[in-house]
Amino acid sequence: MKWFQFIPQFFFDAKYWNSAKKNLKQCNICGFYPNYWFPRGHDLPVLQKFKVIGGGKRYVDCPRCASSDRDRLVFQFLCEQVFHPQKSIKVLHVAPERPLFNAIKRKFNCEISGIDNRSKGYKFAYSHEVQFGDLRRLKFKDNSFDWIICNHVLEHILEEKQALLEISRVLKPDGMAIVQIPFSPILSETIEAERNWNSRKRQDLLGQWDHVRLYGNDFVDRWKSWGINASLSDIQQSITKEIHHLNPFEPVILIKKC
Ligand SMILES: [Zn+2]
Repeated sequence: MKWFQFIPQFFFDAKYWNSAKKNLKQCNICGFYPNYWFPRGHDLPVLQKFKVIGGGKRYVDCPRCASSDRDRLVFQFLCEQVFHPQKSIKVLHVAPERPLFNAIKRKFNCEISGIDNRSKGYKFAYSHEVQFGDLRRLKFKDNSFDWIICNHVLEHILEEKQALLEISRVLKPDGMAIVQIPFSPILSETIEAERNWNSRKRQDLLGQWDHVRLYGNDFVDRWKSWGINASLSDIQQSITKEIHHLNPFEPVILIKKC
């Protein structure tokens, strides 16, 4: 007998490999099954010390579409929550991540607006679809949007309460905003930058040179105390998080109109 006769027959069957492929992790934005993921973030001591969720170095970026774990979490949540894909929805994406922005446009029957304030230190490769906009003073009428996506923006904004009230103002009465932030589950009180902190100090104490605070586990209560209708949610099944290579401990942070 030759050595290869000991190899099971199914090993040569394409269907076996296709089913095996289905057991691997898949990017829910582009459908790719990566063998590896690109890194993002930095392993700063403050992020490790406070076990910050949504920050720190991690191998999570899709090598095909460049979506991050946080893009895929938001997209998965939308896929589960938008019950009538045929019904047209209005979406506002603040500081849009391109893979997520394009995926929403492709997947849903929606009118999507992107705004960005073109902060220094960031590269932009946006098309005409993304307009200049300031989350603290939105140029939209009250009750304009079904969904607002604001992914890792608030930690850059000093006037946090003003931005949250603007989100609430432009949401339709039954609309919802997904407002993801990096936060520490073990820090009981949010740390605010002091006015004289330079970028080095912010990096050392808050985890990024241009952040104005490091959120603790008090952020929902903090927002509620301002009258913001905030709550935590999650995608339906934890296995879905594993399949799409998401952080199992990262919740979806929601705001409803107040
Ligand atoms: Zn992808």
